Amino acid sequence: MNPTVIVTGASNGIGKAIAKVFASNYFNVVLADVDEENGFLLQDELLSEGRQAQFIRCDVSDPKSIQNLVKETLKRYSTIDVLINNAGISEFIRPDELSVEKWDQILNTNLRASFLLTREVVPHMKKTKKGSVVNIASTRAIMSEKNSEAYAASKGGLQALTHAQAVSHSKENITVNCISPGWIHTGDYNQLRDIDHEQHPSKRVGKPEDVARACLFLTDPENDFINGENLVMDGGMTRKMIYEH
Ligand code: NAP
Repeated sequence: MNPTVIVTGASNGIGKAIAKVFASNYFNVVLADVDEENGFLLQDELLSEGRQAQFIRCDVSDPKSIQNLVKETLKRYSTIDVLINNAGISEFIRPDELSVEKWDQILNTNLRASFLLTREVVPHMKKTKKGSVVNIASTRAIMSEKNSEAYAASKGGLQALTHAQAVSHSKENITVNCISPGWIHTGDYNQLRDIDHEQHPSKRVGKPEDVARACLFLTDPENDFINGENLVMDGGMTRKMIYEH
């Protein structure tokens, strides 16, 4: 029986690339997103290639919608082996203009959702005595531009949540890791300028497929000695000194 992965935020960008890479590695892929139009388009594309995919509408900021996602996934595929908590919103608002409602929306989508969905999924992974979770954080957990308080806090929280979950769920044989991407270009890669690429020690801007391949690697049962870890994928940018002289 093929394993099943849930990918949140799968209709666009990085989540779409993650869904594609798992589908081509013979997973049943659950595409969970609020964007129904692109979610169903991706489902149809994968099915037409002979892959297994099901779009399920889920607003990860809503606890009831998370419960429904897990229920519907089990109805469709019966097991859950891998969870990729990728859905996120990046909004940058001046601190004096950041409302409590907006703070809650960003934190509930980017951080609380990963806790709730993992908690909901763990009892089902436990039945198969294995499982793997990846949380998609950001290098903005450890470095900032201005006006990123809520986003940075949510991603810093995800890094901390990851090691806490890895220790809590060790008894169920579940690994939990996170990936902190830097600049991953989800638009037209050809529109990028030379300077965009050249400033990176790796001499290029990241692509969604970079993150997708790392998700596959971290969730491979053979790699279960990597646990509670944060994998930075930023072409070396957080290792580069930027003092001006
Ligand atoms: P994206 O292109 O905006 O895709 C995110 C997807 O998540 C969209 O389909 C979006 O739907 C969906 N989504 C938003 N809120 C949701 C909710 N409440 N419930 C379910 N789905 C929801 O973003 P991305 O650039 O691929 O980023 C994916 C993840 O990587 C995010 O967690 C982001 O913080 C992280 N990340 C990205 C980068 C980067 O450079 N791209 C760098 C570091 C970290 P709508 O389009 O309808 O809103």
